[in-house]
Amino acid sequence: MNNRDIIRRLETEHDLSREEAVFLLNTLGDKDEKLLADAARKTALDQFGNKIYIRGLIEISSYCKNDCYYCGIRRSNRNAVRYRLSEEQILSCCEQGYALGFRTFVLQGGEDGYFTDDRVCAIVRAIKARYPDCAVTLSLGERGEQSFRRLYEAGADRYLLRHETADRTHYEKLHPPQMRFDNRMENLRLLKSIGFQTGAGFMVGSPYQTTENLADDLLFIKAFQPQMCGIGPFVPHKDTDYRDCPHGSLRMTLILLSVIRLMNPNILLPATTALGTIDKNGRELGILHGANVVMPNLSPQEHRADYSLYDNKISTGEEAAESVALLAEKLKAIGYEIAVGRGDYQDNTN
Ligand code: SAM
Repeated sequence: MNNRDIIRRLETEHDLSREEAVFLLNTLGDKDEKLLADAARKTALDQFGNKIYIRGLIEISSYCKNDCYYCGIRRSNRNAVRYRLSEEQILSCCEQGYALGFRTFVLQGGEDGYFTDDRVCAIVRAIKARYPDCAVTLSLGERGEQSFRRLYEAGADRYLLRHETADRTHYEKLHPPQMRFDNRMENLRLLKSIGFQTGAGFMVGSPYQTTENLADDLLFIKAFQPQMCGIGPFVPHKDTDYRDCPHGSLRMTLILLSVIRLMNPNILLPATTALGTIDKNGRELGILHGANVVMPNLSPQEHRADYSLYDNKISTGEEAAESVALLAEKLKAIGYEIAVGRGDYQDNTN
């Protein structure tokens, strides 16, 4: 086995075995890393040209009934400041976003019982009525089949639910017993079968993660074929038990972005906020390694600091939706442009 052959096979067959994945992630040297990144960038350029899709991220609630051990807004964090946005506030974010050129709104939040199906459906309908040319993405955790169906019928187009880790034992180390690996996977399957453009994903360098776990994440994405895959480094939060764990590495996140791009040429692959948080050039580097989406923050400025998933989470500069011109400049400097329109997943497999 050698990494050149593995990279060549990724490029031509878009495939890799578990053993090859483990070998590559453990042994990739600097020269081959560049080869991998170049191949991934070329694949993204073939698929999307030099266009980067933008999504406006509206963080609608920092209340959460779950207690994910790694997350700053977990239920048992008593220091977390809790807020939730009203329908009017969410619509006002959309209004600002629309004026700035956003044509996808992502409503993300903790699993907050206040946001019943009736409430979320009403919000989705209101956004779709005002902005029929926009896509609505939801990222509100595990809600089950009935809820997902209602949200889809109300007009939601996409749903993001990271699988977090494809390994059951690892999942159990990151979550309390009430959160079931099987439920997470079942919710993901439901989303896809209902018709949502579905996003899965995982953290890089989360506590207890092994290279084998990462290989399984890669194989899971290949088998499940989500329309989007969100990956970013784990970043510790001071009020969690994992406060002293190191953050996931920039290098490994970039390598994984490239491998995911090569395994799944047309997948929507964001350069995430967490990547921009651990390195000031993280977003640009992500794009140069095969990412094609960025999700600037469109939440009301007075609440941004309170959606604190991890320490030092960025929400200013080009991470802020209102600074989309700055983002455009940064992208231009590396040869890319913001795409116009909703930026839907294109199934071009045949
Ligand atoms: N409640 C919804 C859910 O669980 O899908 C959406 C909100 S949740 C906070 C969004 C994502 O944040 C999670 O899928 C997780 O991967 C990421 N996240 C949470 N804590 C993190 C941390 N400490 N470092 C990096 N990412 C984190």
